[in-house]
Amino acid sequence: MGKAACLLLLFWLVTALNPAWGREINAGDWVYLQDQNYDIDKVRGISSGWQRSHWAGPNLGFTFNPYWFRLTLPANSLASGSWYLWVHNAILTDLRFYLERDGRLMPVDSSLDTRLPAFRFQVNPDSEYRLYLWVNSATALQLPTELVTEQTLLSQRETQDAILGVFLGVLLAMMLYNLVLYIIVRDRNFILYVLHAGALMLFVCSWQGVGAQYLWPGWPGFQDRSVGMSTFAVIAFSMWFCGGFLNIKKDNFKPIRWFWLVRNLGFAGMAITPWVPPHWSIFSASLLSFFAVLMVVRAMIERASLRYRPARLFVMGWSIYVTGALMMGLNKFGLIEVTLASENLLLWGAVADMVLLCIALGDKFHEERNLKLRAQSLAIRAVAREKHAKEQAIASERTAQAALEETAHAQWRYQQLLERRVSDRTLELTRLRQELQHASEHDGLTQLKNRRHFMTQLASAVARSAAGAETFALLMVDIDHFKTINDTYGHLAGDECIRGVARLMQEQLQWAAVSLCRYGGEEFVALVPVRNEAQAQSIADELRARVANCPIACGQDRVLLTISIGVVMVPAATPKPVDRLLQQVDAALYQAKDQGRNCVALATG
Ligand code: GH3
Ligand code: MG
Ligand code: MG
Repeated sequence: MGKAACLLLLFWLVTALNPAWGREINAGDWVYLQDQNYDIDKVRGISSGWQRSHWAGPNLGFTFNPYWFRLTLPANSLASGSWYLWVHNAILTDLRFYLERDGRLMPVDSSLDTRLPAFRFQVNPDSEYRLYLWVNSATALQLPTELVTEQTLLSQRETQDAILGVFLGVLLAMMLYNLVLYIIVRDRNFILYVLHAGALMLFVCSWQGVGAQYLWPGWPGFQDRSVGMSTFAVIAFSMWFCGGFLNIKKDNFKPIRWFWLVRNLGFAGMAITPWVPPHWSIFSASLLSFFAVLMVVRAMIERASLRYRPARLFVMGWSIYVTGALMMGLNKFGLIEVTLASENLLLWGAVADMVLLCIALGDKFHEERNLKLRAQSLAIRAVAREKHAKEQAIASERTAQAALEETAHAQWRYQQLLERRVSDRTLELTRLRQELQHASEHDGLTQLKNRRHFMTQLASAVARSAAGAETFALLMVDIDHFKTINDTYGHLAGDECIRGVARLMQEQLQWAAVSLCRYGGEEFVALVPVRNEAQAQSIADELRARVANCPIACGQDRVLLTISIGVVMVPAATPKPVDRLLQQVDAALYQAKDQGRNCVALATG
């Protein structure tokens, strides 16, 4: 939509550019002569040596000499009334007009104060007119002229001023717009565009005479210099913008050094313009513009062929501009004809260029922003992926950690279990060992200490006695006629009787530190600490009496049992072997049996 509007605007500008309606001036109408310090009278007298202009608008290119120009208008070639010779070159500062009517020099009206020089004369159709112009130009000597009536001139001038106004307005709007964009987005290309447009504006103001008429009217010296300076400025800033826009770098544009050299020469030209004669700076700027065009075209071709997308719009915009610049340069050097179109093509090219460039710049910015956004979204996606991967890693790490913890916990539980089992087993073992110990020392039937234990105790008691520590008596007890019990009541009842006798004897002997043991069958032994034989005798007798007097449960009945006791004394400090003691006590027991049972027999010797 924007592009279509721009093209419409361009179309309107080009159609408005049509030459003014007036008397056509053809090629060869103008003749010219190099000035040799002639005055007008002398020139009027010269009939030979005049050269014919090849084109309708004479173009001598860069010549630094003044020239005389002559245009002959035969009778009846113009309608009567007020006519103007209108010179479409605003920068011819040194220009003089003379009028000859029917061979007589006529006084000339003061020229109209216009941007472009215009000289008025009254026409009588019957007369022949000769128009003389003396021109001393600091720039290329070009005389695109028109013969127009006053009415045409005024309306054309208005149109052309309006077009210029539109052009400058568009340029100014573009500058402001891009300046604002630069302030907002800080993209270097926007400020380069502003500078480029500013240079172009100065250039157009200079070449079109707007500057001289409105901006620096009282300063003709600057007008001469502004033309050269603005041309250098356009070269320098256009190239700078172009280089930045096309993003030319060492690796994508080989002649980059030449490119920046031409740009820098443009800047250098700007700097030296105030110090050199104007025609030199204008000449060198025009010459430099060829190289600038060459470099810019080269860069555009190279970048466009590299499929750099913004380059396409840029090429479109700049091809008009560059063509205009080329044509202008060529006509300044007098190589092509000066027409209004060629003179102004650069202007219109510039408008199209500025609009298209502005669009291209927006496009480039848009594309770069898109690229940035795409890169950003890619980066965001990558970050999200990374984050996701990290989260997954953390999650799996957590799972692994949990598994580890679970394993550790299971291990701990297992250890606990193991420890508990070990401790249970240890307790069990201890208990078993204790039971074993108990079983190894005790008699299962009576729960008295067993014979094995008795033998140990006897050995230590013998040892103590031998050491002189104590006197004790060894008692051996046997239940009388026990076979009869078994035979009468059965073995179970016999067992019960053995337990009953054992309990009785234990009760009887528990007052003293006596160790009563089952020796085997229905026989018991006891170690009794005593002072002497009498005491031993007495204890044994009391024991016998207790058993004999206490009925004992035996199956369904209670029976009175008797016991026989053999006693042997073991006095302190009289060591005797254990075997000997056992023999002695056994003998004493037999003795008691022999004495009729239910009695105590003391061993002798
Ligand atoms: P004596 O008066 O001569 O001692 O006559 P006795 O019948 O008691 O004869 P002896 O001492 O030689 O016999 C012991 C008997 O005791 C033999 C056996 O049947 C019985 N006996 C031995 N040990 C046990 C036992 O643990 N339980 C039972 N019920 N009887 C036993
Ligand atoms: Mg016995
Ligand atoms: Mg017996």
